[in-house]
Amino acid sequence: MLGLMQDRPLLISSLIEYAARYHGNTEIVSRTVEGPIHRYGYRECEVRSRRLASALARKLGVKVGDRIATVAWNGYRHMEVYYGVSGMGAVCHTINPRLFPEQIIYIVNHAEDAYMFIDLTFVPLLEKLADKLGCVKGYVVMTDREHMPDTSLKNAICYEELIEQGDDAYAWPDLDERTASSLCYTSGTTGNPKGVMYEHRSTVLHSLIVLTGEGLALSSQDAVLPIVPMFHANAWGLPYAAPMCGAKIVMPGAKLDGASVFELLSTEKVTLTAGVPTVWLMLLNHMQEHGSTLPELKRVVIGGSAAPRSMIEAFQDKHGAHVVHAWGMTETSPLGTVGNLLPKHARMSKQEQLDVQVKQGRAVWGVELDIVDDDGKSMPRDGKAFGHLLVRGPWVTKGYFKGEGGNILNAGGWFDTGDIATLDPDGYMQITDRSKDVVKSGGEWISSIDLENTAVGHADIAEAAVIGIPHPKWSERPLLIVVKREGAELTKEAVLHYLEGKIAKWWMPDDVQFVDAIPHTATGKILKTALREQFKDYKLPTHDDE
Ligand code: AMP
Repeated sequence: MLGLMQDRPLLISSLIEYAARYHGNTEIVSRTVEGPIHRYGYRECEVRSRRLASALARKLGVKVGDRIATVAWNGYRHMEVYYGVSGMGAVCHTINPRLFPEQIIYIVNHAEDAYMFIDLTFVPLLEKLADKLGCVKGYVVMTDREHMPDTSLKNAICYEELIEQGDDAYAWPDLDERTASSLCYTSGTTGNPKGVMYEHRSTVLHSLIVLTGEGLALSSQDAVLPIVPMFHANAWGLPYAAPMCGAKIVMPGAKLDGASVFELLSTEKVTLTAGVPTVWLMLLNHMQEHGSTLPELKRVVIGGSAAPRSMIEAFQDKHGAHVVHAWGMTETSPLGTVGNLLPKHARMSKQEQLDVQVKQGRAVWGVELDIVDDDGKSMPRDGKAFGHLLVRGPWVTKGYFKGEGGNILNAGGWFDTGDIATLDPDGYMQITDRSKDVVKSGGEWISSIDLENTAVGHADIAEAAVIGIPHPKWSERPLLIVVKREGAELTKEAVLHYLEGKIAKWWMPDDVQFVDAIPHTATGKILKTALREQFKDYKLPTHDDE
């Protein structure tokens, strides 16, 4: 027997409609590319999104399922494009401008983007690439008439003029909740980028989870600042979750340096912020240099890469902001696990609590996790055994756009994340590595992430990376690559001495190399492929040891 509940579709337009009605004056504050701070309420955002949707449909001939790209910072116009495009049934394809030009060309052509919405910053970039983007019928420059640049882009359209042509009597269509809504290509360190296609239903379910206490506990009491870009897994879902609960949202635009981020966090009284460890390093350094504090800031979400213990400690002990360590991927919408503490942890010492917080956290409802060995057999959840991390759930991808990569699920419907992890008896997951980055020494695995995080605990180390170097006896041994803090004197011996007792003896790096900078991917992760290339002719001092 079936139940008798109404079959209302879960649609992205419902999020902004709700915010307009119940939190119409709650602000969206943006640092604009043009310079000034812009502020307005959800009500206005919804009207402009609807105008945009109608202009897309009636003026530009955009149809349900068409892909519309964005190359833009976090800002109110980008938010309107999120809602206008998905709300009318087209697909909002966010592109990471930090990708190599060839990757952007590949992605736009693969997605067959019909129009591109671009911030002023990226006009020169698109001018250079436009010749190779045959599918693009026009470029909407996200600015007003006054700031429209002289450009060689064919069919350059002024965003504000397009909005003016929209009809505010336009009504959001009732779409099937499985309709594709947005598209994000993974930056993939090998092979071509692959497209993850989100849908309305998965996006709304994901937003609900972001709001739960076991998720990020976002509510109308919060002002949230996503530093994580809207082109990186939909800014971790915050542009959808914030309107769902009526949280004020603060958009940092192009300025992500410590001083600019600090200023916005402070003046807008931000309570919750989210980003990758590299941006937090800049913020913490800025705050340390200026002795400044953020009394309103309650929670800092750290994800994308492992949050080092020293970073968690700095936020909590020096600045009174609780760290929420989270794990996810573009393929998982992205929220998979959140590192909230359980009641029993309240009785523990600070150091014991940190032992829990450095882990990536427990699965939120809806996300199932498993760890398996090379043969696909489940491994014990004892916090020690580590294996391939598999994930399953209603906001986890079942395949890449246009079938790239073939069937990516195993027989049980699980997706292999490419991460290596442990699961402890309480359900806390800890990433020990990417499967291609673990150092395979004598048949055992050494976690490069663990070594890196331990090393950056040293006061004179700004950043650290570990790669496996071929070794005749052990197959691979770890090399620690270090960027010193400015002005610091540091020797290999001092670094190794610091690691003693903090890691297993056989994990001790065979060498330490000092470099000026460590390369990063477009989403802020250490680019191990480039480091491997850089050190491909390097020989460990232990190479000839018996
Ligand atoms: P992306 O799709 O670019 O967001 O990358 C997803 C990958 O980032 C995951 O598969 C992990 O390898 C890594 N990642 C995300 N969050 C964390 C975290 N908290 N700790 C360690 N690695 C993480």
